[in-house]
Amino acid sequence: MTQTNLPSENVAGYIDSYYTRTSQAQPARAPLKGLVEADVCVVGGGIAGVSAAWELAQRGKSVVLLEAKRIAWGASGRNGGLLSSGFAASTGSIRARSGQKAARALHDLSHEGIRAVLDNTRNLALPGVDPIAGVILASRHPDTEGLKAWQREANDVLGENLDYLPPDKMRELVKSERYFDGMYDPDGYHIHPLNYCLGLAENLVASGGQVFENSSMTAMNTSGTEKVVKTENGTVKARHLVLCGSGYGGHEFGRVHHAVLPIATYVISTRGLGDRIGDIMATPAAVADTRLSCDYFRVTPTGELLWGGGMSAMAKEPENLTEMMKARVVEVFPQIADVEVDVAWTGLMGYARHKMPYLQEVQPEVWTATALGGHGLNTGPALGKVLAETIAENGKRHELFAPYGLRWNGSFAGAIVADTICAASNFAHRRKER
Ligand SMILES: Cc1cc2nc3c(=O)[nH]c(=O)nc-3n(C[C@H](O)[C@H](O)[C@H](O)COP(=O)(O)OP(=O)(O)OC[C@H]3O[C@@H](n4cnc5c(N)ncnc54)[C@H](O)[C@@H]3O)c2cc1C
Repeated sequence: MTQTNLPSENVAGYIDSYYTRTSQAQPARAPLKGLVEADVCVVGGGIAGVSAAWELAQRGKSVVLLEAKRIAWGASGRNGGLLSSGFAASTGSIRARSGQKAARALHDLSHEGIRAVLDNTRNLALPGVDPIAGVILASRHPDTEGLKAWQREANDVLGENLDYLPPDKMRELVKSERYFDGMYDPDGYHIHPLNYCLGLAENLVASGGQVFENSSMTAMNTSGTEKVVKTENGTVKARHLVLCGSGYGGHEFGRVHHAVLPIATYVISTRGLGDRIGDIMATPAAVADTRLSCDYFRVTPTGELLWGGGMSAMAKEPENLTEMMKARVVEVFPQIADVEVDVAWTGLMGYARHKMPYLQEVQPEVWTATALGGHGLNTGPALGKVLAETIAENGKRHELFAPYGLRWNGSFAGAIVADTICAASNFAHRRKER
């Protein structure tokens, strides 16, 4: 595993966050000991790994899931909770590389990911996921023409249902002088992502899957028809191997590791706002601004403001994280300048250079479903479905991801380039805001 200087872990083996403070109680699952055999071994228990294992088990495959720490200990249990369509890559870049028809198929698949989360939450009665409908895209500078063009393309070409929000409507919903106009996406949601992954993993076990926590893959031997995965005290032998380590995976993932760039991003949650929620929001929807390194926020079902933003491939955890993030809140909502921050945390997103997820067979019967970027809550479940169709049903939809093969992450230089692109984009945006 990659070593990071992320916040120290709390007693349950998770970092301290809004999510761990409000998660459904989950007994730790025993580490792997001895030899276990299965059709498929999935490595990495984030939303990609749990979804893949779940979908495979639903198709009759015997599955072992190995997680180095706890289920959804990584990005999947500490993100912003926004569940919306699309990918980290822009629709324009996807169309340019995939062509119009495949771009639409990919977009539809990204919706399937949302549907999977909503259906699983309802059909399995997953506790504490609490999906809330609505995501607002907010522009920090007047951009009527740009937003309307975006809306036309999204609605006419991709089948979205975006509503344009003129400035007066925008400010009625989100009470900030920082935003001008925006768009409302009725098909986006926000959820408690840790509870979703925990609930799905529990159902995976109930349907015969084997889940081992604190079971880091230390090595893999993929040369034979039987793949062999080693942990400190155990061995898994399986016909198929699925690698889902994302930004937290290390050299044990072989060349997949060198194709994923870990990028840190930051979140805080405040004390409960009580009646003061009405001072900032008149909608239960989540909000994200239109910058590359955007702010995204939402009021949780328990009344806290959960705010995410910033990203860096170099600065994994800024020293003044709480102050830095609170300044972002106050810039948008000066009316709650005295709000207290309860907890601040960071997480690593795994990115490919093309910003699309990897769904690739890296060797015969060795797959990776990873690098979901900042858009994993829908794409993780979508990839899980496609992967399971491929392995269990000879499905072909993985071919949609053929143009997005493994590319070297550029190592240290890749991190510098990523931060430079982000800084340049922020600078350009600030000029528009003047
Ligand atoms: C702060 C933050 C905010 C975000 N906000 C949003 C959002 O609002 N909406 C959205 O859609 N996306 C968001 N994202 C992105 C989203 O969280 C990720 O894309 C997604 O969770 C990635 O899932 P994953 O399963 O690929 O990786 P992860 O969840 O990171 O899981 C990888 C797992 O692999 C395990 N692992 C690593 N090495 C080994 C090993 N050797 N053996 C076994 N296990 C191993 C790790 O312990 C980890 O649990 C955000 C991400 C962050 C960090």
